[in-house]
Amino acid sequence: MAKDYQPRMHSAEHMLNAAMDRKFKCGRCFSAHINKKKSKCDYKYKRGMTDEEAREIEMTLNAAISANLAVTEDLITLEEAEERFNLERLPEEVDSVRIIKIGDFDACPCIGEHVDSTSEIGEFNMVSHSYEDGILRIRYKLGAV
Ligand SMILES: [Zn+2]
Repeated sequence: MAKDYQPRMHSAEHMLNAAMDRKFKCGRCFSAHINKKKSKCDYKYKRGMTDEEAREIEMTLNAAISANLAVTEDLITLEEAEERFNLERLPEEVDSVRIIKIGDFDACPCIGEHVDSTSEIGEFNMVSHSYEDGILRIRYKLGAV
């Protein structure tokens, strides 16, 4: 585990990806920069988002965060994982895959560190969204818990 790993920010990234893909069908972010104070996620999409859409994403996340969803992990076989998930980012040569579930909100293969409950994440605050060259970028902060 990297010294500067940020389980709260990273768990929020999982939730943001779920909300973004559900709303825009844009897939999960292809690049993320997770930092203690502010993080950013980049999505491939055909247009930028409106402020109204940004507020909607924020509200979706904050509703899920305040629902105190349990964050759990499941080990499933590689075969099963290939059927259910996009495994492009997995290292090869594995026989089982760790799936991180955030209540019913999200499920995603990941080897990172996560919170145990969404109540540990704090309020999700989208600082800005921008669009350039086919890339929709979201910057976010988390409130104190
Ligand atoms: Zn993760």
